[in-house]
Amino acid sequence: MSSIPYIDIHTHQVDSEKEILSIVNLDIGNTKHELNMNQAYSIGIHPWDIAKLQIDSVSDYLNNNTTNKNPAAIGEIGLDKLIKTEIEIQERIFIEQLHVAKNQQKPVIIHCVKAQEEILKIKKSNDTGTAWIFHGYNKNLQVAKGFLKYDFYLSFGENLLRNEKLQSVFKQLPLDKIFLETDDKNISIKEIYSKAAEVKGIKIEDLKKQILLNYTKCF
Ligand SMILES: [Zn+2]
Repeated sequence: MSSIPYIDIHTHQVDSEKEILSIVNLDIGNTKHELNMNQAYSIGIHPWDIAKLQIDSVSDYLNNNTTNKNPAAIGEIGLDKLIKTEIEIQERIFIEQLHVAKNQQKPVIIHCVKAQEEILKIKKSNDTGTAWIFHGYNKNLQVAKGFLKYDFYLSFGENLLRNEKLQSVFKQLPLDKIFLETDDKNISIKEIYSKAAEVKGIKIEDLKKQILLNYTKCF
């Protein structure tokens, strides 16, 4: 039996399987979630949740919920142009959280919908000195290369299972810049590993080794 874990870099479900190391995302208002002692988690204000914010200060909220509990990452945070919340407000909340990530030296898990240019611009001016992981990546190769140039990691989820275009993008990306995730989907991370290894033409064990290396580099 191999002791290398499957790593689920972004999920909304707690997984109790021993061979899976997952980073569970705590949404706002859900910080009292019962997590077992070893459960890694990320915390942040998702752009979708800005409209229901009832806190005075984003950094106070994050600091109060992070300092004792030591999250693995700040996230998911970012920008989403398909929601009603004004992009200026989204950017302000995003940047405030980047400051917390910088101060606490935590990696960030990025939610980005139709806002690639803005995210790249913000990374240039507000870099955290930590890893940036673009979660749920589903864009083309050219966009992927743009993000890699800015030192992003790209995380792939359910779309990798069936979307052939995305599979071909994945195939061409360097493995040392990749993560895999289940997000809010009711699927197993093992299934995604299996597809990812097949697309890359490598053994699952080798994929697990590489993603563990990526993880130890970022966390
Ligand atoms: Zn998510």
